[in-house]
Amino acid sequence: MAKYHKKKKEGTKENARQHIIELLEEAGKVAVAKPELAKRYVFMARKISSRLKVSIPDNLKRRFCKACGAYFTSKNSRIRLNKGKKTYYCLVCQSLKRVPYK
Ligand SMILES: [Zn+2]
Repeated sequence: MAKYHKKKKEGTKENARQHIIELLEEAGKVAVAKPELAKRYVFMARKISSRLKVSIPDNLKRRFCKACGAYFTSKNSRIRLNKGKKTYYCLVCQSLKRVPYK
């Protein structure tokens, strides 16, 4: 946690993108044990993303709820496949997210 406050990584978009990836990877590590902390990491990553207009990589974008910021784990989400779409159900805020897949 502390290391994110000490590191000054803002400035360029490449740094911002790297920072977002690090935050979301960290969120993934703590998601099961500390969902609130994971949510905070997701929030920070999204904040950097919107402020610096850097998009979050697709593979990472699917790992958390767009509505409430909860990082998906097997406990707080359900994934269903139907009609060529992958549907993510967030059990924290009951929202749905559909992603087409091949
Ligand atoms: Zn949610």
